[in-house]
Amino acid sequence: MYFKRILKYVFQQKGLLVPSVILAFVVSILMAINISMMLPVFKMMLSDQGLHGWVDSFVVKDRTGVTLLIEEPKEFGDGNISRFIPPMVTKLEVNDEDNNLKVGDEILEVLTEAPQDSYKPAVKNPLDTIAAIANSDEKVFVFVRHRDRSEELVELEPEAKKVISFSNIAKYVVDKIPRGIGKDYKYRCIAVCIWTILVIAIIRCVARFSHEYIVKKISLVAIQNLRNETFTRTIRMPLSFYTNEGVSDTISRFIQDSNRVRRGISILFGKAVREPLTVIALFIGAYQIEPKITLITACAGPIILIVIGRIGKKSKKATTRTLKRWSLLLGKLQEAFFGIKVVKGYHREEWETERFVKVNNNLLKKQLKKAKVEASSSPTIEALAFAGGCIGMFFALRMLEGSEMTIENFITLIALLATAGESGRKLGDVIPSIQEANASAQRVYELFDREIEQDDPDAVEIPPVRESIEFRDVSFTYPGSPEPNLVDINLSVKAGQTIAVVGPNGSGKTTLLSMIPRFFSLNSGRIMIDGVDITKATLSSLRGQLGIVTQNTVIFNDTIANNIAYGMPDAPLEKIQEAAKHAYADEFINEKANRYDEMIGEQGSTLSGGQLQRLAIARAILRDPAILIFDEATSQIDSDSEAKIQAALREFSQGRTSFIIAHRLSTILDADVIVVMEKGRIVATGSHTELLEKSPLYKQLYQMQFGAHAEKENE
Ligand code: ADP
Repeated sequence: MYFKRILKYVFQQKGLLVPSVILAFVVSILMAINISMMLPVFKMMLSDQGLHGWVDSFVVKDRTGVTLLIEEPKEFGDGNISRFIPPMVTKLEVNDEDNNLKVGDEILEVLTEAPQDSYKPAVKNPLDTIAAIANSDEKVFVFVRHRDRSEELVELEPEAKKVISFSNIAKYVVDKIPRGIGKDYKYRCIAVCIWTILVIAIIRCVARFSHEYIVKKISLVAIQNLRNETFTRTIRMPLSFYTNEGVSDTISRFIQDSNRVRRGISILFGKAVREPLTVIALFIGAYQIEPKITLITACAGPIILIVIGRIGKKSKKATTRTLKRWSLLLGKLQEAFFGIKVVKGYHREEWETERFVKVNNNLLKKQLKKAKVEASSSPTIEALAFAGGCIGMFFALRMLEGSEMTIENFITLIALLATAGESGRKLGDVIPSIQEANASAQRVYELFDREIEQDDPDAVEIPPVRESIEFRDVSFTYPGSPEPNLVDINLSVKAGQTIAVVGPNGSGKTTLLSMIPRFFSLNSGRIMIDGVDITKATLSSLRGQLGIVTQNTVIFNDTIANNIAYGMPDAPLEKIQEAAKHAYADEFINEKANRYDEMIGEQGSTLSGGQLQRLAIARAILRDPAILIFDEATSQIDSDSEAKIQAALREFSQGRTSFIIAHRLSTILDADVIVVMEKGRIVATGSHTELLEKSPLYKQLYQMQFGAHAEKENE
């Protein structure tokens, strides 16, 4: 489970995680209280029982198992005359033969001390009667009148008060309201209940907002950290990773997948904590009202869990397939837009559109499959929850018919169970989302777990080359390439020499020079700088002495100065200007409105090819490298730029060891040694005149490739 690994970033934020769980608790408990509060309101509206009477009878039921029906005292005339109706026993939880209490008995008076034999009970205010039982800590003496009108003194021993019980908490709260009788009292109680419901709802909503925000924050911070760590690793991956995997898939893992993981975290610690807690709290509330029906309804729970598990599995498969299609789509987009000049130049817009539509259609197919799985989740859960609810209701109605349950209990029970069902339904997309996050986490970690370029533990710092660079029996094959791309390369270069590498396209010139910065690992052989194998050198000391100018001069969307200073971020402006002068770039930079502070567009779109290469040369010059690796532009560059690049190169290669992939006649004429390559092998080395004599391939190349330039350069 890759998602588990992501949780590390979540647990780093304990300071937020703990409050978030507490808030989820608060939200769910308040939800249950909110709905349960409907009961007293209904009770007061539907029956004559006052709020205090109701709560007291609730306590009595809890502590003695006796359910009492009480009617509020009726007022007559000016309110001074009241008629008291004694509370009646309607249900006995345990049929205790000894205490002689029976269903239908009326309770006349309650005494806390044993009365004398001659004591005559009187019918007291039923609210006081019941309060006396509810408030008692010990045994009480109850005068009852049986249905046959005979009176009897019964001893009741209420169970010890439980501090945390619904009835006690309710009593504690309700006792704060002054007791009373009549309509005013009833409306006062209803108003208190409604205001309390409102206040609790507001607190619940604030808690819910805080919970939601904290969880979102946790997930955003976690993903920020994940992205940072993944980037730190990815940027250190060997070049082969990028050439093999393509960049768009990596970008898609960074953006889309990390976003899905974020959503998963936010759901896991948000909804997936809050809603089950709410369901439990609501069920506890319902259980207090009617345990049997609550348990019957709760039977739907395990079935729902099994169904959720099944949907989860399907969802994971569907998600993985969709994610693959997404990266294909991104790849297509990148190809089309980065190659937009080619697309337009060859008028291939229609073809590109067709290819895009195909990939997009494939994505849609997979998305629809995924949508089907996801869409089925919530309704399935809802249907099961409904089935449970309906079965429960069926039993509830029977209890209602048999007067085992009052109408207000029935309504509140249904409200509690329905809200629990709604909370359960919200859990419908939890599993699919977490599966999605898991699939995405897997893609992120596939990236994360790759090997990165690292120095050997015993790697040494090598000083800039002083004597020689040697290739010994170097062989290399790109992964997946049918033929070897470098074969038995042996070459010895003295420090300070300029080496021109020539050969037909695809002969391995670029590959050969990519081995010096260790962009790829050799299959066999060694490259040595002053006798030290470069694989034994630290990457920083090796690459630190290299200046690389490639064909596609990578330019960053930044100012000209920052682009030149890319390899030397601390270089002062004078140094940058000096380097630009040596690269013959100073002149065109000064023509720009903001000179060195001019922004270069993305991919260097505001500069010509020749200007871009001069900037790249300036970047290399600024580093003052011991070794220069230069890939001459093959594309046509205007003759002014061409001459300036040549001049810059000539000056720059003085005193440095320079490897140049040559496409210009002047370059080969200036070189100390020319290396001729064919099919990954060095087929000849020597000076221009030597090679013209001894290498037919060189002669052919000279005539075909350099001949055209030679004519141009001679013009
Ligand atoms: P040159 O610079 O002489 O034109 P390269 O060094 O670029 O030639 O390429 C040499 C051979 O290696 C070619 O056959 C090319 O197709 C192959 N090649 C180049 N880069 C890769 C790569 N990243 N993966 C697989 N094959 C590659």
